[in-house]
Amino acid sequence: MAEEVERVAQELRGCFRSGRTRPAEWRAAQLKALVRMIEDKENDISDALHADLAKPRMESYLHEISLAKGACIFALKGMKNWMKPEKVPAAITTFPSTATIVPEPLGVVLIISAWNYPFLLSIDPVIGAIAAGNAVVLKPSEIAPATSSLFAKLLPEYVDSSCIKVVEGGVDETTALLAQKWDKIFYTGNGHVGRIVMAAAAKHLTPVALELGGKCPVIVDSNVDLHVAVKRIAVGKWGCNNGQACIAPDYIITTKTFVTELVDSLKRVLERFYGEDPLQSADLSRIVNSKHFHRIAKLIEDKKVAEKIVLGGQTDEKQLKIAPTVLVDVPHDTALMTEEIFGPLLPIVTVDKIEESIEHINAGTKPLAAYLFSRNKKLQQEFIANVSSGGMLVNDVALHLANPHLPFGGVGDSGTGSYHGKFTFDCFSHKKAVLVRGFGGEANARYPPYTPEKQRIL
Ligand code: NAD
Repeated sequence: MAEEVERVAQELRGCFRSGRTRPAEWRAAQLKALVRMIEDKENDISDALHADLAKPRMESYLHEISLAKGACIFALKGMKNWMKPEKVPAAITTFPSTATIVPEPLGVVLIISAWNYPFLLSIDPVIGAIAAGNAVVLKPSEIAPATSSLFAKLLPEYVDSSCIKVVEGGVDETTALLAQKWDKIFYTGNGHVGRIVMAAAAKHLTPVALELGGKCPVIVDSNVDLHVAVKRIAVGKWGCNNGQACIAPDYIITTKTFVTELVDSLKRVLERFYGEDPLQSADLSRIVNSKHFHRIAKLIEDKKVAEKIVLGGQTDEKQLKIAPTVLVDVPHDTALMTEEIFGPLLPIVTVDKIEESIEHINAGTKPLAAYLFSRNKKLQQEFIANVSSGGMLVNDVALHLANPHLPFGGVGDSGTGSYHGKFTFDCFSHKKAVLVRGFGGEANARYPPYTPEKQRIL
């Protein structure tokens, strides 16, 4: 396998050196082919996502297929401008000269993707890597095998397979890939593997983008339109892969005086969304596999946790389904409250005053996303100024991801580097500093011998 991976890396290196991936025409042709692929194969993509996660078709379309197509079209429209050298002011010390920043492709890049949004999380960075003129190898997640094999089948049918390749596999294949020298590694997944990726990259001084996760908090103030807030929280949690999403709410913080009203509203909205028996709802994704099912089920088996369930808690191992589950005031030292949940459990932490929630968030590691629901402008400003997170959203959940003008990525434990829109192009480009001078503008003081007359300028 190591030889096969080395052969792939060398082939891509040769292709990149040949200059094939650099012209705007090649880049545009690949992106147009990707748009065609998404349009032609929409049903196949949806079927693969259903096979991997029982993802509802509507969710697959809204959260993966349409976003991927939108990202391709956005890159196609922007690419020529993004590729242009950017003229910057000349400095007096270099007079006369012109200064420009020239974006150039990094070279051959490795993209390692995760299982939860297996189509979007793979194609989105590939789009930016192509737009920036790189040769690419994509390693989709083996935990979403239907989507992984669909990529392996479809990409060569649509794009230039001499410069864009798919390598399927799990830990062994990824380990072999990581042993090669790449010009950038873009990894999406958990922080444990993120550290493995970074250590492997360090051996070759390869830059990395790490798109990781964490516990995304949602502060819910009492000064809200509660029905709208709860619908948005519910769809951002259970309507996003049944909580298996990096920016899904991990836990809520609210006040002791408001928690009952909030829980009652969650009960009403969840029943409206998923009926009386959510385990039978076709609108809820299943847990991806039995390992993750048991990991999540174990979080609520602990007696200290189980007694805090106020809604849900049902599981069905055969179907790998877990019902939307809400818990209140779970002890802070439990795994539920310390680890990223990445599933349909939603604990609520209560505080005396809503302002305390900012301190509570800042006592933990920096989240990928942080959310606040409140009409209170002062609280909104305090939240924006004092909470450090990859991204944040006031009065909604997860939607910041859908604006291609905003960078998407983590900070601290939730990751490093960002992408989406032009940020993906930048992520896979080197910004080369270029200064061009003529032969005029000689300043004698620059040259030895440094005579006393010349030193008089000091
Ligand atoms: P995963 O199991 O699919 O792993 C991710 C990738 O790492 C896969 O391609 C896998 O083959 C590879 N991998 C796994 N173990 C490895 C090892 N020992 N050595 C080398 N490669 C290895 O996905 P996951 O980690 O379960 O994904 C969930 C995590 O990812 C969560 O923490 C979630 O928050 C995070 N996530 C982040 C984003 C984001 O955009 N920031 C998006 C989705 C998921």
